[in-house]
Amino acid sequence: MRISTIRPAYVESFPKALEDGVLYISRTFGTTCHRCCCGCGTKIVAPLRPTEYRLTDFGGRVSLYPSVGNWNHQCQSHYVIRNGQVIPAGSMSAAEIAEGRAHDEGEKRAYYAATTRSWLEDVWEWLQSRFR
Ligand SMILES: [Zn+2]
Repeated sequence: MRISTIRPAYVESFPKALEDGVLYISRTFGTTCHRCCCGCGTKIVAPLRPTEYRLTDFGGRVSLYPSVGNWNHQCQSHYVIRNGQVIPAGSMSAAEIAEGRAHDEGEKRAYYAATTRSWLEDVWEWLQSRFR
């Protein structure tokens, strides 16, 4: 992979000239696009729909699931975008990709748990610890 890291850029609509290593995300149109990370420069569009791609962004570290397989393009490259890293999928087994997904979802749950935890839960835990 010529491009090994990718960063998100939130845009209204995609610019004409795309930059390498940038994942353009249009919430308005619910889709992303980027230049193929193999370096061939083909514009790869990954729509964000439950049946297509899912995007997570933890402080600028983007993950796209499932993997990007450019079977319709000449380069035939296949890679995973996880935590802002571009990982060649050829060197990853399907199990590893699934594991990565589970890891990302665990992270997501942890993230929401941390932000939605209220003082009531703290009190509840403290009470439980007293009567244990
Ligand atoms: Zn390519």
